[in-house]
Amino acid sequence: MSTESRKIRLLMDLRNGGVTDTRVLAAIERTPREAFVEETFVDQAYANQALPINCGQTISQPVVVGLMSQALEIGERHKVLEIGTGSGYQAAVLSKLARRVYTIERHRDLLAEAEQRFKGLSLHNITTMVGDGYKGWPGQQPFDRILVTAAARIVPPDLVAQLSDEGGIMVLPVGDVGGLNQEVIRVRKDGHKFTSERLFPVRFVPLVQGVPEVPRK
Ligand code: SAH
Repeated sequence: MSTESRKIRLLMDLRNGGVTDTRVLAAIERTPREAFVEETFVDQAYANQALPINCGQTISQPVVVGLMSQALEIGERHKVLEIGTGSGYQAAVLSKLARRVYTIERHRDLLAEAEQRFKGLSLHNITTMVGDGYKGWPGQQPFDRILVTAAARIVPPDLVAQLSDEGGIMVLPVGDVGGLNQEVIRVRKDGHKFTSERLFPVRFVPLVQGVPEVPRK
């Protein structure tokens, strides 16, 4: 089967899985997932499944990328923060929906690979940082939208603080670090008012606080 027909089949799977926002579907269609997976998994790039990447992490399942992107209700003028760059795939999809994407990853090696991919695909509206995403990106706040792609036990307070007061939306998986009993929730912030909704169950790698030490040369 050709890449093109695999892609069409995946888009159909996404629609059946509840991704109906045409802007989100178009962003996914225009993002070559094969450029974000390891060499050995290229033939599975358009299967609707999570795949392993370096540093024991995973590139998220396409339907989850679609549903979370859709839940964010991103406008083309929005400034978006993503926590957990991983392969860079979700950031690449967001970059097609928003004005600018800031993305934070705690593993330096993963981020370096993702940066190469952004460059190769000429995605110039993505800004990256190695760091602890639990603390957000204080120098760039507030953000219209925040997406966390690793599971936290609680909603990280610094991220709530860095979300725009004027209709800011944050989407994140919350629950056990073991991967069971996690669900994606959506937090809306209007002035000092918050509302939160439970959206769907998921299984994400944990949001780990701190950054791995760089070995001394
Ligand atoms: N969005 C990614 C999915 C990556 S999996 C993609 O599309 O491929 C989650 C990522 O979050 C992992 O790469 C992990 O290293 C990273 N992560 C976990 N805790 C973090 C933290 N506190 N700060 C930044 N990144 C974190």
